[in-house]
Amino acid sequence: MAESIPYYHPIGKEIEVFSHAYQNKLPVLLKGPTGSGKSRFIEYMASQLNKKLLTISCHEETSSTDLIGRFIIKGAQTIWIDGPLTIALKEGHIIYLDEIAEARPDVIVAIHPLTDHRRELYIDKLGETFKAHEDFMLVASFNPGYQRGFKELKPSTRQRFVAMSFNYPSAKIEAEILIIESKLETEMAKLLVALGCKIRNLTELGLTETVSTRLLIDAGKLIKSGLPKRLAVKVAVVEPLTDDPQILTALNDLTDLMI
Ligand code: ADP
Repeated sequence: MAESIPYYHPIGKEIEVFSHAYQNKLPVLLKGPTGSGKSRFIEYMASQLNKKLLTISCHEETSSTDLIGRFIIKGAQTIWIDGPLTIALKEGHIIYLDEIAEARPDVIVAIHPLTDHRRELYIDKLGETFKAHEDFMLVASFNPGYQRGFKELKPSTRQRFVAMSFNYPSAKIEAEILIIESKLETEMAKLLVALGCKIRNLTELGLTETVSTRLLIDAGKLIKSGLPKRLAVKVAVVEPLTDDPQILTALNDLTDLMI
C-alpha cells in the first residue's frame, strides 16, 4: 500500500522554493526554532517528490564517520559499511541533517564538496571520491539561537545553501494545524493558540525557547484524550518551558486566566 502523504500546511512560499532548489540540485538550509514544522516540511516534500528521505538528528558527538561510513571487523575480515550520507549520495535520496550546527566540525568539512558544483564526497579511509547521484539532495536544519548560546553556523558554511526561515504560523493557520493534528474542537484549538501567542509575546520572561506548535499539539492531544484542560496545558506547555518557580507561577496563572 502506498504511504500516505504527511500533512503539511504551507506558511509561505517554501514548497515552491524547495521544488526549485531540488530541480537545480541546490542544497537547502531550513532555519527556525524547535517545533516550527521543519521536519514535517521535509517529510512532506520528500513524499511529494517521491524521494526516499534519510534523517540524521545531529548532536555533539555526531562525526563524519557516522555519516560517511566505517570499517568493521567481521570474522577475519575488515569490511566497509556505508553511512547514511554515502548511501543517499550513491542511491540518490534526500538526506536531512537535522540541527547540523550541533555536529562535530568534521561533519561540516565533509559536506563542503557536496554543497558546491563538485557534488562529490571524498572518503579518506577508502582513498576514493564519489560523485553524487543526479537525484541526491542535501538538506540541513539549524536553530538560529544566537542570543541564547546555541551553536552558530559559520558564514562560509551557511552561504553554501539556499536558506529558508521557519517561524510559528499565524494564529489562524496554527489553529487549523492543531485541529488536524490533535483532533481538537475549533474553540479549544483557538484558546490554545491564543495562549501560545500570548506567551510568545512575553519576551520579558527571558525563556530560552518559547511555545512551539509541537507543544500546543501535545496539549491538544492530552485534552482530546480527556485530561483536564488546565492540567494538560501545565504539563505539555508550561513545565517543558521552564524550571524557574516564578515563571512557572506566572505561566500557570496566565493559563488559569485564559483556558
Ligand atoms: P521542527 O523540525 O521544526 O522541530 P516539526 O516539524 O517536528 O518541527 O514540527 C512539530 C510538529 O508540529 C509536527 O509534528 C506537526 O505536528 C506540527 N507542525 C508544525 N508546523 C506544521 C505545519 N506547517 N503543517 C503541519 N504540521 C505542522
